[in-house]
Amino acid sequence: AKRDPGTSYRYYDRELHITAGHQLRLEADLRNALRGNELEVYYQPRIDLATEEVRGVECLLRWNHPQRGLVGPDEFIPVAERSGLIVPIGYWVIEQACKRLKEADGLGYPGLVFAVNLSFRQFHDRKMTETIFRIIFNANIDTSLLELELTESAMMHDPEYAQRCLRELNQLGISFALDDFGTGFSSLSNLQHLPISLVKIDKSFVQELGHSADAEHIIRAIISLAHSLQISVVAEGVETEGQLEFLRQQHCDEIQGYYYARPMPWERLVEFLNNQGKA
Ligand code: C2E
Ligand code: CA
Ligand code: CA
Ligand code: CA
Repeated sequence: AKRDPGTSYRYYDRELHITAGHQLRLEADLRNALRGNELEVYYQPRIDLATEEVRGVECLLRWNHPQRGLVGPDEFIPVAERSGLIVPIGYWVIEQACKRLKEADGLGYPGLVFAVNLSFRQFHDRKMTETIFRIIFNANIDTSLLELELTESAMMHDPEYAQRCLRELNQLGISFALDDFGTGFSSLSNLQHLPISLVKIDKSFVQELGHSADAEHIIRAIISLAHSLQISVVAEGVETEGQLEFLRQQHCDEIQGYYYARPMPWERLVEFLNNQGKA
């Protein structure tokens, strides 16, 4: 039987309507969240495989929603990107990172690297370099400890502008990591022409280790390519000893994953660091 086009249209329309309403609601909530202190940054340690020490932390957003509890970034970052709210939120995360960087220094962890994620949408902001400069200047931090993580697709909207931002920020001492490397549109020329000091192997490859020979080949190739260009490698999503051992054998520089530690609130991270020192 043929579908009644009128009915399916109405159904479609109603679904769209609900989705748009839901989106607007989330957007309004998120706007309040930024003002109302509901956003929080969690920190996940990154471990140096050679020394077994914590080299740095990745800053990961969480939302303590008054009704829904803790909401993960996969749920609200797309909304923040569509509405543009990710621009002020993104600057707020950099401010938090700078503040914690200072605190870590005071607590006796002076060399800890703080990595912050950048959204493609932040590269639409014409005042990106200027704003980040103001934040790090006011915070008075050692800029070599601030690392910004971006995906290659983040620069696609306006590659020239994005490259200029990277160069200007790099001149201030900030370093860059290519995130989710190997997924999407990886281009070898990016590694050569952009001020990239680190690549992060996406967890989708790491989690295939032991199940797929392809994943092993890809990881080996990424590490050897990066190293030949003097670029360090972090593997993310390491959950098992087997994955860790493979990465160690391949001379991966650092790992990040539940095997060592999950993302955690600042206070817990400080405890974690203190215990590491004593171990
Ligand atoms: P990402 O940048 O690829 O971050 C790594 C994600 O892997 C994090 O998810 C982290 O919690 C998770 N992860 C780490 N180790 C393991 C592991 O061993 N197993 C598994 N299954 N997962 C692991 P999270 O925190 O949910 O963040 C998801 C994504 O949200 C991030 O992916 C990043 O793209 C985005 N995001 C988070 N915070 C920010 C932010 O401040 N700004 C922007 N623009 N994006 C952010
Ligand atoms: Ca990241
Ligand atoms: Ca990833
Ligand atoms: Ca990502």
